[in-house]
Amino acid sequence: MRVVGQEILTVKNLSKEYVCGHKAVDQVSLTVNKGECLGIVGESGSGKSTLARCLLALEKIDEGEILLKEKSLYNANKKSLHPVRSEIQAVFQNPSASLNPKLKIIDSLMEPLDFQRKIQPSFLMDIRNQRTKMAERLFEMVGLPSKYLSYYPHELSGGQKQRVIIARAISIEPALIILDEPTASLDVSIQAKILNLLKDLQEDLGISYLFISHDLAAVNFMSQRIIVMKQGQIVDQCSKHDLFSDRRHPYTKDLLHVFEA
Ligand code: ADP
Ligand code: MG
Repeated sequence: MRVVGQEILTVKNLSKEYVCGHKAVDQVSLTVNKGECLGIVGESGSGKSTLARCLLALEKIDEGEILLKEKSLYNANKKSLHPVRSEIQAVFQNPSASLNPKLKIIDSLMEPLDFQRKIQPSFLMDIRNQRTKMAERLFEMVGLPSKYLSYYPHELSGGQKQRVIIARAISIEPALIILDEPTASLDVSIQAKILNLLKDLQEDLGISYLFISHDLAAVNFMSQRIIVMKQGQIVDQCSKHDLFSDRRHPYTKDLLHVFEA
């Protein structure tokens, strides 16, 4: 049995410099515990997406260490990825970019489960060999009607596509989902619905989240702890309840000011 408070993700002194010489992430250390949502907030250009891409091994890191469930993401020689990498899923800002326009929705949705046949998610265990039934259950979990399974991406709205991406992210019951501005491209009326869905899924499934946004209100709604990034560095961190305290860094107070306006 897992112990509450167990560290799922541990990042130690992570730095990433782009070839142009710009240090986008500078000595970042953080942890995400089991079942927790850690929020990262910061204005555009503060290095949030670079950090996310490093955690997903989409960018090479220059310095530091990334541990998922206490195992280093990179094997000792840094040349190959440890199998734990498959336990991290991601949801990005633009759902259209994450769906192949030529594939039916069901085929994009089922890609992780089709390819990783050994994975037995607890909520799909009883129907693991019945592909359509699994797809229908995943759609039910994200509030989509099953008729969309045979549609193509262009036939769905942005919010519906993001629900597909979320269903795909949870499908293999990952240890961690990185959410990088998951609602930023959606209509304001849809944003709250998607945040509520993400929150409900987390409560039901106990998956850990790293929730990244420039929107402090969204981060505050989703997260138990919040990290504030500026120019690649962590300048402040607090629990949700301490966000409005006087002890906050002046930069956090500036972000709060926008939040309250
Ligand atoms: P955020 O997600 O917080 O908006 P990013 O991680 O996207 O921040 O960007 C951090 C900084 O790194 C910015 O100054 C950005 O211009 C720069 N940057 C991002 N991607 C690249 C890249 N591929 N090459 C060079 N610089 C980049
Ligand atoms: Mg970004």
